[in-house]
Amino acid sequence: MSIDRVILFIGPPGSGKGTLSQECVQKLGWTQVSTGDLCRKHIAKQTEIGKSIDFAIKSGKLVSDGLISQMVFDWFKKGQQQSDVVILDGYPRTVNQARDFNALADQLGDAAQVVVAKFVIDDDVVVDRLVNRYICKNKSCQRVYSLKPTSSFVPANDMMCDACGSELIKRKDDTADAIKERLKVYHLHENDLLSHYEDAGYEIREFKSDLPIDQLFTEFKERLGVSL
Ligand code: ADP
Repeated sequence: MSIDRVILFIGPPGSGKGTLSQECVQKLGWTQVSTGDLCRKHIAKQTEIGKSIDFAIKSGKLVSDGLISQMVFDWFKKGQQQSDVVILDGYPRTVNQARDFNALADQLGDAAQVVVAKFVIDDDVVVDRLVNRYICKNKSCQRVYSLKPTSSFVPANDMMCDACGSELIKRKDDTADAIKERLKVYHLHENDLLSHYEDAGYEIREFKSDLPIDQLFTEFKERLGVSL
């Protein structure tokens, strides 16, 4: 299928990029690719790449630009997108990755429009979200839950995924130290990355992501002119 739009989700860990992606996949039929998920699949399968990135992921550091860009290129090459809109969740995260992605976008054809969506949230809200976060153990599901009683993402059955019934687990990088490191790394690159897109003439569409997910989803659709 040819790609009309690639939407880049740029935002700190825990800013709801994955959750909003899930909404777009389920309700709009879009395709999402998350570089974090691609990394975790390598680790689960214990591939050579997986073994080499395990430590960086656990400690909240970035994987090298070259490896990450290659994963994204391979994903597009395999033609895994099942819709004309693709969300890139968590990529590019550095200016080098953005340059790599420009080269890839050129190959996707003239018709593909690149949209930059930026998500904003306070660091202390992120920490509260991530310490309560659990994910589905099934690597082809990886649905996200919260055990915070006031959250709308509490699983219906204790510690089981509503979607596929697999066990819920804690991500290895959702520890206090790794969360702190991930936030630090995000803030280190954020300005340069956004300036790269601004300088290239892109409009940055900014979303406050401490809203309930249905409100965020509605605002997102409105601002992107999605009529469904
Ligand atoms: P989060 O954004 O919540 O930290 P992700 O699931 O997007 O979680 O990413 C988890 C980890 O995967 C990151 O901390 C990093 O180690 C690695 N990773 C994911 N995307 C990238 C990327 N674009 N560049 C470098 N490393 C990445």
